[in-house]
Amino acid sequence: MATVPLPIEIEHHIADTLGRDGSIYLTLKSHGVPEIEIAHVGQALARVFNAQRETHPGDAIMMILDSLKTVLRFEYSPSRYPEYPVFIERVGDELQARRDSIQLTDRTWAIEVVIEDNLSNAISAAGEGDALTDLIVDYVFGSVIDFHRDVRRGDRLGLVFTRSYLGDRFVRYGQVLLARYEGQVESHLAVQYEDPMGQQEYYEADGTSLERMFLLKPMVFRRISSRFTRQRFHPILKRNVPHLGTDYAAATGTDVWATAQGRVTVAGWNGGYGKMVELEHPNGYHTRYAHLSRILVRKGQRVSKRDVVGKVGATGRATGPHLHYELIHNGSQIDPRSVNRGDEARVLSPAYHQAFERQKRYLVGLLDDTRRTPPRVIADAAHKRPAAIASP
Ligand SMILES: [Zn+2]
Repeated sequence: MATVPLPIEIEHHIADTLGRDGSIYLTLKSHGVPEIEIAHVGQALARVFNAQRETHPGDAIMMILDSLKTVLRFEYSPSRYPEYPVFIERVGDELQARRDSIQLTDRTWAIEVVIEDNLSNAISAAGEGDALTDLIVDYVFGSVIDFHRDVRRGDRLGLVFTRSYLGDRFVRYGQVLLARYEGQVESHLAVQYEDPMGQQEYYEADGTSLERMFLLKPMVFRRISSRFTRQRFHPILKRNVPHLGTDYAAATGTDVWATAQGRVTVAGWNGGYGKMVELEHPNGYHTRYAHLSRILVRKGQRVSKRDVVGKVGATGRATGPHLHYELIHNGSQIDPRSVNRGDEARVLSPAYHQAFERQKRYLVGLLDDTRRTPPRVIADAAHKRPAAIASP
């Protein structure tokens, strides 16, 4: 009679999420996994996963050990990119690791919101997150609407956008396909269109691009603490001094973007400005980013619009963490709000107008339907291009 193999005795089953430290090692240790086993898992993991860059608090782990506390199986699901889970399995004496790539499903949604006080509140009242507000403010309308100044109660924003799902689980926002802002100060239609050469941009109804030379602000939409003014009482100097820039209150370490493409002319300490970056742009423009905690560019380096040049800090003459941003034209500081006035926008080539018109009519049609019916899923589509694993 053949011997029936004994079923492997599963002694330990661990399911947990990484704590604030974001450490796989500490999490496994807290469950009593022996050091040698943690080391073996770490070695297998390193073949498919960059723990230093990719682990985050909240990432999910699952582990099965036998009665001798030998690891049989380990699974890791990154909270930001759950479509790329890691599986480690014991095969004989060895732990084998593999990383999956699961296709996300994109669903298209349409909503329309009416603004009471600010855009962020209107979007969250519609059940959507701040990440969607950031897409609208920073990317779609980043050069044409100043959401600190141009927004009035009763303005309407219509959106057609995609949400990406892993099964039934919402993972992240995909793309904003259409945004229609109908305001008392500014009104714009933004239609996303990718031409046959692969250039993807937002265009107004007549095919004029919404891109301009400058972004209206150098970081994610947050509170502005002090505007450009010729007179202001200075809290440290205790006298009226002009404030020839804009202060953005933000947490230390917040990314600071180049507002236009250019070349780094200063990257270092500059008196009261503290750690400062200065960029030179075409047509006699310069921008300055002051009080930084860290500088991430070198003098002479070329930068593109939205490249991160440094991190918010409180170096130099600053009472707290904020970014002091200056826009300089032909040697004197100007109000950044006026920068794109008169800037000639690119126009979509007439060769693409027919395809663009079709896309516009389709998307506007989806949005107009929401005025008659409540928000709903419009269509399911398999994710065409899975997002690359982003570095933090
Ligand atoms: Zn300032």
